[in-house]
Amino acid sequence: MDPFTQKYIEGFMGDVLARNPGEPEFHQAVREVVESVAPYVTANPHLMDQKILERMVEPERIVIFRVPWMDDYGEVRINRGFRVQASSAIGPYKGGLRFHPSVNLSIMKFLAFEQTFKNALTTLPMGGAKGGSDFNPRGKSDAEVMRFCQSFMTELYRHIGPNVDVPAGDIGVGGREIGFLFGQYKRLKDEFSGTLTGKGLGWGGSLLRPEATGYGLCYFASQMLETRGQSFEGKRVNISGAGNVAQYAAQKAMRLGAVVQTLSDSDGFIYDPAGLTEEKMNYVFELKNIRRGRIKEYATHFPGVTYTPGERPWGIPCDIALPCATQNEIEKADAEKLVAGGCICVAEGANMPSTPEAIRVIQGAGLLYSPGKASNAGGVATSGLEMSQNSMRQHWSAEEVDAQLRRIMSDIHSACLRYGTNPDGSVNYVKGANLAGFIQVAAAMYDQGLV
Ligand code: NDP
Repeated sequence: MDPFTQKYIEGFMGDVLARNPGEPEFHQAVREVVESVAPYVTANPHLMDQKILERMVEPERIVIFRVPWMDDYGEVRINRGFRVQASSAIGPYKGGLRFHPSVNLSIMKFLAFEQTFKNALTTLPMGGAKGGSDFNPRGKSDAEVMRFCQSFMTELYRHIGPNVDVPAGDIGVGGREIGFLFGQYKRLKDEFSGTLTGKGLGWGGSLLRPEATGYGLCYFASQMLETRGQSFEGKRVNISGAGNVAQYAAQKAMRLGAVVQTLSDSDGFIYDPAGLTEEKMNYVFELKNIRRGRIKEYATHFPGVTYTPGERPWGIPCDIALPCATQNEIEKADAEKLVAGGCICVAEGANMPSTPEAIRVIQGAGLLYSPGKASNAGGVATSGLEMSQNSMRQHWSAEEVDAQLRRIMSDIHSACLRYGTNPDGSVNYVKGANLAGFIQVAAAMYDQGLV
């Protein structure tokens, strides 16, 4: 990198750190993008003059609000709600809601920032946003979750709408929560519109939306493997998480012929050397989505399975790693274990699951590596398809949605190759994804003037 661009990056990051103190996840996400796009920015003086990148790191709007609710024992509880509307350059704000005790402004800002580039990569007209609360749905009754969702929406409803901002699910927000949120939105606004995605099939949802992130991840990883003449067939796959993304990544990887060895939650991981089967998958769906149990129960239910509390699955030798739980869940030591265990491909289902140090280890060892904003974009892409169906008042078949999902993932892969192929023929998917997303958003911002 030339000294001018290097100096530009350091100056830029110095300002970001000074203006956003105590937000390490946001700093991490911004640095990754800035390092990829800075050579393009410094080579295009009109982007420098218009301070396009400086504007991108300043969300268009942030709403922080009180969410009071009453638990089943009559005790008053107070949580904090967030919506970060990062960019509306190419469409209405769009991005999930996360309910997890770790939620804070830094995490919301990093997710909204990432979402802007991811949504651009899908080529669908969606801006970037993210929201959520430090509410922990774990251990709460359905009635408590409903009261919380209703209180949350009682503030959020004034900031969203089908042409303004369209939230969806994320960690801790699945079909049940989207239902409660949608019901309250409809009641407050007195309108039935596609303001949320991930809706139930009988009331505006799209076929394949629950499957989309995990399936899309496997479609993308298949294309990565293909660049080296490989496929999922017969490969050992380690997956972290046991939620929405992990479940459908596991199902698709298994159906593509892989041996899915691990799943996890925040308490530990299970290792099943024989691999998942359709029967075992059905057990996981029932365990996690209906009984809302813990993944360790899998190990007592099926023979030959071990459960390791307090650890992540990266020490188990595998060919393909699909992190599908949360940010920074692959640290440097985990990456070293993956490399030592013979892994050839790390494709991210979660958002920013690998630390910068881990990425350096993975890329340095020549593994195929894709950032979440490229490989997990199938979820938001299918949310975009749900929005289209809502606008047209139509319902597409699963085959139609799947065909579009495959095409979009393939287009994202091609964009990564176009912008990320190195002179030696290897592919830097981080650079490719960041640059492809950035160029599109930057061009729209330039056209729309100083807003
Ligand atoms: P879910 O809530 O359905 O599942 C999350 C899973 O990750 C659970 O097994 C959970 O375990 C585990 N997990 C959460 N936090 C931690 C933590 N701090 N440490 C270890 N394990 C943890 O969420 P999703 O599957 O929807 O989301 C998973 C990831 O995928 C997130 O990074 C999300 O942003 C990303 N993503 C999701 C999309 C979607 O369509 N849902 C789209 C694109 C990205 P536990 O039960 O113990 O909390």
